[in-house]
Amino acid sequence: MSTAPLPPGATIGILGGGQLGRMTAMAAARLGYRCHVFAPEADSPGMQVAAARTVAPYEDIMALERFGRAVDVVTFEFENVPVASLDALEAVVPCRPGRRALSVCQDRLQEKAFLAGAGVPVAPWRAVHSREDLSASVAELGLPAVLKTTRLGYDGRGQAVLREDADLDAAWERLSPRPLILEAFVPFVMEVSAIAARGLDGSVATYDVAENRHARHILDLSFAPARIPAATAEQARRHVARVAEALDLVGVVAVEFFLMEDGTLLGNEIAPRPHNSGHWTPEACIAGQFEQQARAVAGLPLGATTRHADAVMRNLIGPEGMARWPAILGAPGVVGQLYGKGAPRPGRKMGHANLLLPLGTLAETEEAVLLGRI
Ligand code: AMP
Repeated sequence: MSTAPLPPGATIGILGGGQLGRMTAMAAARLGYRCHVFAPEADSPGMQVAAARTVAPYEDIMALERFGRAVDVVTFEFENVPVASLDALEAVVPCRPGRRALSVCQDRLQEKAFLAGAGVPVAPWRAVHSREDLSASVAELGLPAVLKTTRLGYDGRGQAVLREDADLDAAWERLSPRPLILEAFVPFVMEVSAIAARGLDGSVATYDVAENRHARHILDLSFAPARIPAATAEQARRHVARVAEALDLVGVVAVEFFLMEDGTLLGNEIAPRPHNSGHWTPEACIAGQFEQQARAVAGLPLGATTRHADAVMRNLIGPEGMARWPAILGAPGVVGQLYGKGAPRPGRKMGHANLLLPLGTLAETEEAVLLGRI
């Protein structure tokens, strides 16, 4: 396999038409590349900024092969592309990341086993394939616990919290017959995430850790850097670097962690792509996560992850998020963007905004003051 960087003017293919692909395409354009977006939906956020587009289902192997021959490298911006589609593409064009990263991250059982194998602690868990498995697993792990579908779950979809035995039947009814995983409910004190980029040459760069706040299971706010001890942040960065290496990933990867009272970090999810909790990086770091994604898949050296500002990122979600937009445009120290989506349905990520603060001032500023500014 050639490891020479793609020359200026080359084309990066992106599977997926969402905002992550849109921001990757915009960053790639700054480096002189074109992007060709492949997605089932026309006029998607990514397609609006792409140099070329293919509208077809991910299962359309002929369309995928045509796309593969029209581009110089392929990446993906969400992890639910069928592995078989990536296999078909890999036969005609380099895919970065490759099938291993995709398949591990599509399945919570594989993901948990992989994290543990990479030395990242995880919450106790059991595979659940039958109603009997569910009872036996609850007996072993205790309650409360969280029952999740192993595939295609995101933003809290496809999961149920079990608080008492009476909850089991309803949760089983709702989530079966899909394969399920039961996780012990962990009393975390904070959710944090760490992001790494890994280049074609195997070099790894990690960003400062973000502290994440969810509302109705959807990321609402990220604070960077996380207000946690330096040693804990270093540990999270080591974990994500290890994950990038163990996946042999080329591109950007994020790991979400639960931080426990005693300082332990439990790995929850891996996203083999730029991540919502890293949306502060383009404005607060020398090279943001989308530029790193473009650099890595193009075989360029990685950029510096050095942070030159503290930041608070707020997602603009649904109608309430859009109602904030006019104020965000006029707010001092705030920079925002919209993703070009249509109707602001409840729960839909329409855009985000970053409040930038002088380096080192986030931790000492009252949260109410910060949130009053964004
Ligand atoms: P996930 O889809 O795995 O990211 O889960 C969505 C959210 O549910 C997480 O951000 C947590 O707030 C919560 N959650 C998921 N798994 C657990 C768990 N094992 N213990 C406690 N809370 C959890």
